[in-house]
Amino acid sequence: MRKHLLALLLAVSSVAQAAPLKVAASFSVLANLVQEIGGSRVEVSSLVGMDEDAHIWQAKPADLKKLSATSIFFVNGLGFEGWLKRVEQASAYKGHVVTVSKNIKPRQMAEAGHEGHNHGHTDPHAWHDPQAVLLMVEEIKLALTKADPAGANQYAQNASRFKGQIAELDQKTSTAFAAIPAANRKLVTSHDALGYLGARYQLQLLPLQSISTEAEPSARQMAALIREIRKNNIRAVFAENISNPKLIAQIASETQAKVGPPLYTDALSKKAPSWLAMFSHNTQAILDALK
Ligand SMILES: [Zn+2]
Repeated sequence: MRKHLLALLLAVSSVAQAAPLKVAASFSVLANLVQEIGGSRVEVSSLVGMDEDAHIWQAKPADLKKLSATSIFFVNGLGFEGWLKRVEQASAYKGHVVTVSKNIKPRQMAEAGHEGHNHGHTDPHAWHDPQAVLLMVEEIKLALTKADPAGANQYAQNASRFKGQIAELDQKTSTAFAAIPAANRKLVTSHDALGYLGARYQLQLLPLQSISTEAEPSARQMAALIREIRKNNIRAVFAENISNPKLIAQIASETQAKVGPPLYTDALSKKAPSWLAMFSHNTQAILDALK
């Protein structure tokens, strides 16, 4: 009888240990990175969902409730989550906020600002550079290990496996882009989300919109871009899963460029439900269009 009771107690305590650590991520791409490292020990919820645009997202009461039930909140940082402070305050967040871009050297971009003067902007879309993702994975591993030391081995194993997959994909992608003449590695995207990808593989990008999605280009900007595309013999234009494809279609109809399949930039999608799938899809779509 005593033995049974002991067995029962042990069973109960192991069930208690198995309850997953509840964490949140600001958007779907980051939620997947956290899931890859956390595995079955964590339950990850994403505030901004698949196919949603984090630049213009607004929290609903249900999002705040979901967030306040978690003990770690993973955010990209670099100004990506413009709503971060508001959401932290509105949910009275008591957990630990972890900025995964902490050790990433951000890409700066000069952008024509208001009144015609230029000011630098930090580009937040670092998850399109596999080398930056390796650093994010490290931050995620550290934070999960700190919050759940019993899972240290599991997190280390998951991180090591995932880093191997990232490095392999990075290598494969480098080789594939290197086979395309540098002069042909040019493309147009909806908003300036792929700067890190471009820097990693020497692609020349002409974005229709700036690093945010808030403002649509004016007719004058559209005309200037169309001239650029014709002049530079740009071969491919891409819409994104989070943006309106209309402008991209208009550009294609007025130039020699062909329209590639939508790229997954700031959010995962049903057809690209993980970082690995997103990265493979995007790079393959660009490679196919530039060949
Ligand atoms: Zn973006």
